[in-house]
Order: sequence, then structure tokens, then C-alpha cells
Amino acid sequence: MLSPLLTQATGVHAVKGEGAYLYGADGDRYLDFTAGIGVTSTGHCHPKVVEAAQKQVASLIHGQYTTVMHPRLLELSERLEEVMPASIDSFFYASAGTEAVEATLRLARHATERPNVIVFQGGFHGRTVGSLSMTTSKNGLRAGLEPLMAGVFVAPFPYAYHYGWDEPTAVEFCLKQFDHLLATQTAPDETAAVYLEPVLGEGGYVPVTAEFAKAIRRRCDEHGMLLVMDEIQTGIGRTGKFWGLDHLDVRPDMVITAKGLASGFPLSAFGAPRELMAKGRPGSQGGTYGGNAVSCAAALATLDVVQQEGLVENAAERGRQLMAGLQEAIGNHGLVGDVRGRGLMVGVELIDTDGNPNGGLSAKARSRANELGLLLLPCGAYGQVVRFIPPLIVDESQIDSAVETFTTALAEAVG
Ligand code: PLP
Repeated sequence: MLSPLLTQATGVHAVKGEGAYLYGADGDRYLDFTAGIGVTSTGHCHPKVVEAAQKQVASLIHGQYTTVMHPRLLELSERLEEVMPASIDSFFYASAGTEAVEATLRLARHATERPNVIVFQGGFHGRTVGSLSMTTSKNGLRAGLEPLMAGVFVAPFPYAYHYGWDEPTAVEFCLKQFDHLLATQTAPDETAAVYLEPVLGEGGYVPVTAEFAKAIRRRCDEHGMLLVMDEIQTGIGRTGKFWGLDHLDVRPDMVITAKGLASGFPLSAFGAPRELMAKGRPGSQGGTYGGNAVSCAAALATLDVVQQEGLVENAAERGRQLMAGLQEAIGNHGLVGDVRGRGLMVGVELIDTDGNPNGGLSAKARSRANELGLLLLPCGAYGQVVRFIPPLIVDESQIDSAVETFTTALAEAVG
């Protein structure tokens, strides 16, 4: 039997996916605003992705990349170089996001010969021991698993709504604390890298401001620390620009991507300047399944579709529509604390009458939305944020429909 530890956020037994919809075994259709946790960027079973994968399956499924080279891997590296920030021209591949995070950790330690990393409060970087040690989005992920990897230091994230401050105050406080961390816990010459999500994902869908990111970049430059952008959730058009960092005007030393990269096929990668990549120790990176040929073919097709169908622009426009629609419909609701996001990464933070995080209401509202045919996920430490993360192909009427359904679901959940 299936492990009881594997639970589902929705009651759907999905047998088919098409575009923005999932179909249950009972024949019911659901508008899927979870997109497999931000994975099905081109929608479920986009015909071009299906065609590319089918073609690849018929010619080479597994060209194990520490044994042989296969053409899709080289093609994908060229394509990624075209879409990555100018300095990033060398790529390593794995399957899951967490593996790519671990790979950057290995490279950061080798390249700098420093042991420690700094992450931000509420960040999510994965569930394997290295990346889990860097994850602080909620304690259930870490509970019972300590001691985790040493050498991880957590700086506060400028989550202005959580602090009850305006953005500049939150940024100022967090930068002061960042400097304090360097002065008291992890000396700059012991700090290899700083990991930042351009929009805090699992931690509650909180966008980073350019001011904060640039200030962190300056500190990295000053102290020889690497800036690693975790774009696993924010990349490939999700935020209305190709990368989340494109909103921030910062130069990354490494960029990690996964999720939306291959429309549902397991594939992750990280990019770095080749001089930096060359500082890793030979043999330190690898894996059995990394850079799978079918996944790479699906990624190439995904990048084509994103470009040909203008999905980055669509994410920006539909994201604006979604934010405005939610603001208008429920922005003044007494139990809605905040509506925020960037592109098609939108969160609605629910509160109780005292202004505290309201995970219970979020669960009720999502469950009711599920019954009404709209699939949504939670995020935030208390599950208090309802997140809207539709595929990038979502259209205007589907956004309107999601706003309407969620408004009804919230009203009924409040009772
Ligand atoms: N980093 C971020 C920002 C993520 O959102 C996730 C997954 O949600 C990960 C890392 C881990 O990726 P995976 O679940 O593929 O290991």
C-alpha cells in the first residue's frame, strides 16, 4: 500500500490533465491553480511538450550523463545560456530541486573554501539534509530530524506584513540584522554563500524588493560571498519576467532552476560562470538520473512554448488581473490581511479578528474552493496564505472564474 505519510492537499484523484484543467476519476473537471506546485508551466500535457517527449522516448530514454553525453543536454545548455543573466554560461543538471540546491552548496564550499551559508527566515530550499538545514518555512519539515547540517545561519527576511511595518522599515531592520549576523555568528571569511528566493515561496509568497536584493549583493561583493538565487519556484516566467531576479537588478553568482523548466518532467539545473564552476573539485557532482534525455527534450519544448506563446508576458498580464481581481473582490474583507505577489505567484494572507495568522480559515476556504472546482494550495508557516499559482497559459476567463470561486468559497468558509 501507499505510505500513509504521503497526504494530499486536495481530494482529487487525477486521471487526466489538459491545459489549466485536471480531471478526476469521477469525470469532474477542476481549474488547477496549483500547477503541480508551480511545475506545469505550459499547462498539463501541452501538445508540443508531449510530442517532444514522445519523440525522445522512441530514440533515447536514458543517456546516463557521467557515462555518455547526449545531444539534448548540450542543446539545453545552449538554450539556458541564452535566457540566463549574461555572466551565467555553464550548467549542471540533476532531477529534483533539492539536488540542485545541494550541488550549489558543494560548489560554494569548494570554490570559496569557506564552510558556512546564510539563508533567510521562511525560506524553502528542499528536504534532503543539506537543503533541509537551509529550510525554515515551517518547523514540521524539520521536526524530529535534528541535528541537521551545521554551518547554516538564518537572517530575517523583510516580510513587512508579518512585522506590521512598512517596507522600508522592514528592509532596514533586516539589513541591520544581516550585518549583525556577520559580526556575531558567521564571519564573512567563513561564509561561502547567501541563498535568496526572489519571492519567498513556501514561506508565504512575499516578493523581495530590489533595494533589499541590491544591498545583499553589495555585502556579497564586499566580503567575497557568493549570491545564489533559488529560482526553483520563481523561474521560467512565473513572476512575469523570465527570472524572478529580473525584477531585482542584481547579478547572481549562481541561479538554480527546476519545477517549470520541463513542464512536469523531473529536471533541475543550476548555472554559474564557467570560472566559478571550474573551482568545484573533479568528481564532486553527478548522479544517476540527472539531465535525463526525455526531461531535457521536454525542457527544450517548454522553452519554445514559453517563447512562442508569449507566456512570460501572459504571466505578467494575468498576474496583474489576478491581483486586481482579488483586491477588488476580497481586499476589504476583515479576515483578509494582505493580497500580494508578483506575476502568477499570488498569495492571500488570512487572519483572525485579532490579526493573527488564520490557517484554519485558509484550510476551510481552500476545501470549499476544491468542492466548487478550483484547486489551491497553502503556504506560510501556519498555512495561513492561500496561494494562487496557475499555469502560465491561464487565460482571462479562467482568472475571472478563479477569483469568483474563491470569493464564494471564502464567504462560505467564514459562514
Ligand atoms: N527551492 C524552492 C524555492 C522550492 O520552492 C522548492 C520546492 O518547492 C525547492 C527548492 C525544492 O525542490 P524539490 O521539491 O524539487 O526538491
